[in-house]
Amino acid sequence: MRHDVINPATAGVITTIPLAGVEDAEAAIGRAAAAYPAWRAVAPADRGRLLRRFAEVVDAHLEELAQLEVANSGHTIGNARWEAGNVRDVLTYYSAAPERLFGRQIPVAGGIDLTFREPLGVVSVIVPWNFPMPIAGWGFVPAIAAGNTVLLKPAELTPLTALRLAELALEAGLPEGVLQVIAGRGSVVGGRMVTHPAVRKICFTGSTEVGTRIMAQAATGVKRVTLELGGKSANVVFADADLAKAAAQAPYGVFDNAGQDCCARSRILVQRTVYDRFLELLEPAVRNLRVTDPASEQSEMGPLISARQREVVDSFVEPDRVAFQGSCPSGPGFWYPPTVLLAETGEERHWREEIFGPVVSVLPFDDEADAIRLANDTEYGLSGSIWTTNLGRALRVARGVETGNLSVNSHSSVRYSTPFGGFKQSGLGRELGPDALDSFTEVKNVFIATGE
Ligand code: NAP
Ligand code: MG
Repeated sequence: MRHDVINPATAGVITTIPLAGVEDAEAAIGRAAAAYPAWRAVAPADRGRLLRRFAEVVDAHLEELAQLEVANSGHTIGNARWEAGNVRDVLTYYSAAPERLFGRQIPVAGGIDLTFREPLGVVSVIVPWNFPMPIAGWGFVPAIAAGNTVLLKPAELTPLTALRLAELALEAGLPEGVLQVIAGRGSVVGGRMVTHPAVRKICFTGSTEVGTRIMAQAATGVKRVTLELGGKSANVVFADADLAKAAAQAPYGVFDNAGQDCCARSRILVQRTVYDRFLELLEPAVRNLRVTDPASEQSEMGPLISARQREVVDSFVEPDRVAFQGSCPSGPGFWYPPTVLLAETGEERHWREEIFGPVVSVLPFDDEADAIRLANDTEYGLSGSIWTTNLGRALRVARGVETGNLSVNSHSSVRYSTPFGGFKQSGLGRELGPDALDSFTEVKNVFIATGE
């Protein structure tokens, strides 16, 4: 079976690729299982060296990877370069891991007790279409660094950069079977990557719906899972904040990647005393956002990923709730203007459900307790922002909001050296930073008797 890969900025076909089926998935899992014993036996320093070489090869192809992502995913060229650079940086960061997978020596009676961090075996990494390169890297890099072998499935809509990364891995000298990319349908190939008995762990990023199903299926084999799911994160703006800055930055906290970001701050909570003033400041910031051809160096926002996604997004936009909108190109491609909606009760569908598009809802709150209550009134808990000049308040609210990644006077959530993941139904486990290695290793305890 073949599959057309579409450029979302033009709706034109970029290329046609073969789609893998169940037998291809099984063959790839077999190769991954066969490659595992030799890969885990590679000396730690050599495994580290191979990862650094892979990072260098990615760096040498950074522009090519970025251009592929602009074409396949409609990401702005600035974002796409950052994303390819993130793969390189994650490789470099975890290239130090093989030599630092420390165990412990624990005092016990009658001997010596040691712990080891053992790899798991074959790991399935299943990723969505919204950030094809970084999310793939956050899964496969720590997994292979820890000595596992990986099968990576990109989303059907966005396979091109993952396929290229697999070629670059071989070019860098990674042994065959250590990192394989298999492009196929989620329900077919993805399903087998979850149920196959040789797969020991599934690292999934995507919708809460599919993630829930994968977790249930994984229970059968007591397989490990890491889940990074949806979000409906709050951007909480207090009256004592630098209001001009909070309003100027708010569009970037939600409209980046056309809002197709699990960390999008898609609920803005504004203290009632500054609510009107905040909206006055927000309007020009939204109207001035440069929504244009993502290949242009000036572009700040590109199209949505598909016609279907545009329909879903539009279904949330009730005309009488629109405060104001920015602009977007007309003509071919899946464009949608940045849109600001007003909420009243916090019960509205647009306030409660993940939209995954350039739509943000705004709601006033009264005081700190009210802000925390409203921020937590969701089953999600991935990211969030707090704008205030009061340090004590910043810390109180940061501790009060049930979410995995908070930023104060900023919208940044992702650094390769710090942990990333969700509370509540936004996920399970942590990626990136020092914690990710826990997700790809098992602790083994060995007691050695020293008595005669
Ligand atoms: P999705 O439908 O859950 O798909 C994610 C991946 O799972 C795709 O590769 C998909 O393949 C595959 N898949 C689908 N059904 C499967 C099954 N039954 N078994 C195994 N794999 C299966 O999500 P999406 O529509 O691509 O992405 C949007 C969602 O992802 C949003 O809800 C967003 O919040 C979430 N997301 C979360 C994070 C995070 O880090 N927390 C990051 C990005 C996105 P196909 O493409 O072939 O269907
Ligand atoms: Mg889907």
